[in-house]
Amino acid sequence: MKIIDLRSDTVTQPTQGMRRAMADAEVGDDVFGDDPTINRLQTFVAELCGFEAALWFPTGTQSNLAGLMSHCDRGDEYIVGQEAHTYRFEQGGAAVLGSIQPQPLNNLPDGTIDLAAIEAAIKPDDPHFARTRLLALENTISGRVLPKKFVAAALALAHRRHLNIHLDGARLFNAAIAQNKPIDDLCRGFDSVSLCLSKGLGAPAGTLLLGPRDYIARAKRHRKILGGGMRQVGILAAAGLYALQHHVERLAEDHANAAHLAAELKEAGFNVTSAQTNMVFMQAPEGFAAHLATRGVKVLPGENLRLVTHLDVAEGDILHVISAAQTFKT
Ligand SMILES: *Cc1c(COP(=O)(O)O)cnc(C)c1O
Repeated sequence: MKIIDLRSDTVTQPTQGMRRAMADAEVGDDVFGDDPTINRLQTFVAELCGFEAALWFPTGTQSNLAGLMSHCDRGDEYIVGQEAHTYRFEQGGAAVLGSIQPQPLNNLPDGTIDLAAIEAAIKPDDPHFARTRLLALENTISGRVLPKKFVAAALALAHRRHLNIHLDGARLFNAAIAQNKPIDDLCRGFDSVSLCLSKGLGAPAGTLLLGPRDYIARAKRHRKILGGGMRQVGILAAAGLYALQHHVERLAEDHANAAHLAAELKEAGFNVTSAQTNMVFMQAPEGFAAHLATRGVKVLPGENLRLVTHLDVAEGDILHVISAAQTFKT
């Protein structure tokens, strides 16, 4: 039985073409700046996204942390959504390792943050307070694409109040495909962006941090102290380049599969709370995950179930998941 794995878009296997590109990659010691494939990937993505420079990281967690540390000194503060990955799912690394105080604010149902709440959270210049330096947004956030109007207003607010603004764009290509916009459009105005190659794009590892040249030079120092200075890592950069050449446009298929799955689950009487980009959220009745497991469909357990479509889930697999769900009886 083929296992259909809907736990995350991180579970994808490198394709034959990607493995060939990895095997053929020209490499060098990247700590010395000698890896031609890493250098090519960094230059390519910086240009694609409209930034001066880019730096490869093994993971998005490390890219975000080095990214925050390159904006904020010890005792500075960053404003961030309660649901944001950097705040909630990275062990509080900004505070633990970066000595950066987070100021979390509630995310609204569409993933945005109330602009008046952001403005009110900015601390005055007074020795009682941490220095508010940075606003961090995330796009997509739990599958939701940030509305363009919100992003424009948040950028304007940050500029007016002299805050830098970081974007955790782990799945920014999903947002770009969903909005039918080039990726540089969604990066414009941000001081830094972090882009994952190992989510929907299907590379085995790799995240790029983008920003101005002096900022990326600071991030390179932080990457080293965080243990992320790697050697012949062009093997992984080759996978990233391959993913960017072959797996961006096809994200539309993942979005169509998620929409189809959500519509059919709703039709079958399930409480589907939302479907956006490549994620479907639903209330899982007791025993539903186990029922799917016996039919070869893997999901993360939990009451609020997240079903994620990706490179290794074909349209036919979605039909199988739908019929597996239809046979479920409470
Ligand atoms: C996955 C993810 C990260 C972190 O990436 P890892 O490579 O798993 O460390 C950061 N932000 C968001 C929004 C993510 O989904």
